Order: sequence, then C-alpha cells, then structure tokens
Amino acid sequence: MSERLRPALLDSTLALLIDGAWVEGSSDVLTVVDPSTGAPIATAYAAGKADVDRAVRAARRAFEGNWSSVRPKDRARMLTRIADLIEENAEELALLESLDTGKPLRVTRDVEVPASAEAFRYYAGWATKLSGDTRNVSLPGEWHAFTLRRPLGVAALIVPWNSPLLMAATKLAPALAAGCTAVLKPAELTPLSATRLGELILEADLPRGVVNIVTGLGSVAGHALAEHPLVDKITFTGSTAVGKGLLTTVAGTLKRITLELGGKSPVVIFPDADLERAIAGTAMGIFANAGQVCGAGSRLFVHEDIAEEVVSGIAEIARTIRVGGAFEPDSVIGPLISAAQRERVLSLVEQACSDGAELVAGGGALQRPGFFVEPTVFRAVRPELTIAREEVFGPVLVTHTFSGDASLDEIAALANDTPYGLSSSLWTRDITRAHRLTRRIRAGEVRINTAFGMDEDMPFGGFRQSGWGKEYGREGIEAYTEVTSVTVDITG
Ligand code: NAD
Repeated sequence: MSERLRPALLDSTLALLIDGAWVEGSSDVLTVVDPSTGAPIATAYAAGKADVDRAVRAARRAFEGNWSSVRPKDRARMLTRIADLIEENAEELALLESLDTGKPLRVTRDVEVPASAEAFRYYAGWATKLSGDTRNVSLPGEWHAFTLRRPLGVAALIVPWNSPLLMAATKLAPALAAGCTAVLKPAELTPLSATRLGELILEADLPRGVVNIVTGLGSVAGHALAEHPLVDKITFTGSTAVGKGLLTTVAGTLKRITLELGGKSPVVIFPDADLERAIAGTAMGIFANAGQVCGAGSRLFVHEDIAEEVVSGIAEIARTIRVGGAFEPDSVIGPLISAAQRERVLSLVEQACSDGAELVAGGGALQRPGFFVEPTVFRAVRPELTIAREEVFGPVLVTHTFSGDASLDEIAALANDTPYGLSSSLWTRDITRAHRLTRRIRAGEVRINTAFGMDEDMPFGGFRQSGWGKEYGREGIEAYTEVTSVTVDITG
C-alpha cells in the first residue's frame, strides 16, 4: 500500500471508545502488525480492568437511561445510518481491514465491507418487527395472555481476528436493534476496522454510551468483560478452548451466553455431482481466507470412483492459486494472521507427515516476508490422525475415500466423526440422496452443491463443540432478548 493511501487512523495510538469519547487506556500498548509483510503498522491502547469497568458502566447507564426509550423506528434509522456510513467509507474500511488481516483487497472491498453494511441494514428492519404475541390460553374469555419481548441489557461482544469488521457488525447490529447497549472487544491482533467503525457510530449520532469499544488482550479485557456483574449477555466468537473457559467464568452469574466456536466441517462428494464445480468449490471452501474460516470444509469424503480425479483437481488448484499480499492485485489467498498461527499450522502439517499422511500439494511456508503458508492437501488420511481431528485454521485439506457400497448411514457416520458440528457441504445431483443425507448430518449448517451458504437471514451456529446458539436471522436478534409472559384476568 502506498503512503498516499495510508489511513489517518494509523498515525496515533488507537484509543478506546468509552461513554461517547475516545480515551487512552490505563494499561499497556499493543503493536498491530501487517501479516502481508510482518511489519508493525499501528499501536493500540490495551484496555485494563478499570477501562472495561468504565465501559460497562457507561453501557449500563445508557441502557437504563435514554436508549431504552428510543422508539424502534428511531433505532432503525440509526442502524440504517451506520450502514450508509459504512458504504460511504467502504474504500477506507477495506484498506484498514486488508492491512490488518492480510486479506486480499478485493475480498474486503467486494465482500466483507458490503456484508458488514448489510448486517446493519438487515437488523435495522428487525428493530420495528421484533414483538411478542398473543397466546391461545385454555381460559378463553377469562384471560387475555400475551408475551413481551424485551432487551437483555448490556451485551459484551467478543470477536476474533479472521473477519473483524463483519463479526463486529454481526454482533452490534442485532444487539442494538433489540434495544441492548454494547461493549465490543475486538481481537488484540486486529483492532483497526472496529476503531473506524466506532468513529462512524459516533457520526451516526447514537446516544453516548450505547456503543463502547475496548481493544485489549483476551486474558485481561475479555476476561474482565465476561466476569463483570453489570454485563447481562455475552456473545463470543473464537476458539472452543476459550469458549469453554468463558462458561466457567460466567457459571456463577447465570449470564446469557452465545458461543460461536471452532469447526472441522465435512464435505461429501458423490460421482453424480457436477465435478468441475465440486472441485473448485471444495478448494475455495478450504483455501479462502487462507483457511481461517470457522465453517471451512476441512475434511473431504469422496466416493472411490472419483477420488483420484477430485483430489488431483483440488491439488492442482492448491499449486496454482495465487497466494500473495493484500495489496498485490492478483492475490486470491493472503497470509495467515500471525507468525504464531503460521508456526502452529506448519507444525500440524509436519506432524501429519510424520504420522504417515500422504502430502499431495503444499505443506510449506512461502519464502518471503509475511506469514504465508502454501495451500496444502493430504490424500487418504487415516481418520484418527490429529490432522483429521483438530481444527487447523489454515489452508489445509484432509481427504478420505468412501467405498461405492457405503450406505448413507455409513457416510454420515464418517462425516459426523468429529467433536464439532458447525457446517458441512454435500455435492450430488440426486435430490433425494441430498435430503436424506442432510437429515443424518449433525451440524448447524448443510450446504448442498455449494461451499458457501451464509446470508443475513440464515441462522448460523454450531452443534456440540462448535458452540451454543445462533447468530444471523430472527434467531440472531432474539438471542439479545428475553420474554415476559403477561396474563390479564378479564372476568372482573
Ligand atoms: P480466541 O478464542 O483466541 O479469541 C477470540 C476472542 O476472544 C479475541 O477477542 C480474544 O481476545 C478473546 N479472548 C481470548 N481469551 C479470552 C478470555 N480468557 N476471556 C475473554 N475473551 C478472551 O480465538 P481466535 O484465535 O481469535 O479465533 C480463531 C478461532 O475462532 C477458531 O477456533 C475459529 O474456528 C473460531 N471462529 C469461530 C467462528 C464461528 O462463527 N463459529 C467464526 C470465526 C472464528
């Protein structure tokens, strides 16, 4: 990126947004690194426990003060204004996001920034639609009974680094539309776009304290948020290990919690599928965002008759797809987020090789600055190997073959043989088989003849170790509310 395009935001240490003002943190300063080069690009204040306390108290005051009495149609207008501002500033937001994450600019500009605006627009619509209903109780004429749907209060929104702006939007928009106030904690590695979003939110004239943003370490700022007694709801996206830790933190408080965690999602390809699309889709389903996607299809199960064609087709894409820096015009796949993530992925690959897995493409780091790993494919991996069981969160596909005699129950058992249950993809032209297998797959999402299936209106969230609850859609906003049942005796 040329100096001419460098956003002004990077020139001073990023501040915390607390009670409508940008403030310095009382604790340490984080260094933000460009994953495409490994070079430091910015600094950000790391919120300490006292900063988090101030942010939560501001959110509490705003919730109990004027935010609760803002009319739904006015909340909708404010959310629409945020969407407009994201679109007006799309170029700068995309630059910041690409700089911070290493994602190719075309991905941030054409996909993630527009999707972030869309999240605000979609939930702006819900602000005026969310309601309780009248109930058909068994005492007609004696009781009038109805439900009230009410905002939960202060929501703590903890997001990871793999799609920072989109994750922040996906949490903030339903929380605000439901009438909650929020404290957002971006991942320590990627605070840039959330900070710019905070500036836009101020420009949209939300009352002070409704949105607060505290950048900081998970173990300090994230933990302080999770345990804060004035927080009513936590929505967390991140690793299964941290998600489980959060459950322990909130156990004594009975806070509401939504957990969007890891995955090891299966892809099943049958011989009657459109193989050209299945091969390209499966490759992008694991290599997009350098595999740092929770719903990535990382375990392929392919029918024995087409296994050679499919695996070598995906391996060919792995060898030829353009891996490069965020601002190189032909980049399709960017770097991993950090040196630590690159080392973790490479050590899992190395272990797989020493466990006897057959490497058919990739397997190494790119010899250039930045945190690049080659798209990697393993053939006919034994399902018990670590590489076939653990979430790698990198561009690594393990492939398995199933026999032509396998029943749908047997194929489903292979696909379900994982502690996770986030997503899945099935490729077949046989509609009956697709529907029968769908009902056997234990996952929050089944994508048929596509590797991508997300939309604002489709609930997203996993089974088992992939988490609790849903984001997106009606379920995504209801998660920020609670229901009161009201019964009125009308006999008197
Ligand atoms: P992470 O769990 O390390 O961190 C996620 C967020 O939690 C960060 O903001 C971090 O600062 C914070 N955090 C860390 N420790 C904390 C603690 N003790 N208390 C409170 N907050 C804490 O995850 P990551 O490495 O940033 O992200 C990668 C993981 O996220 C992968 O496992 C991936 O599958 C998962 N993920 C899931 C989804 C989904 O929707 N299911 C989406 C994206 C990523």
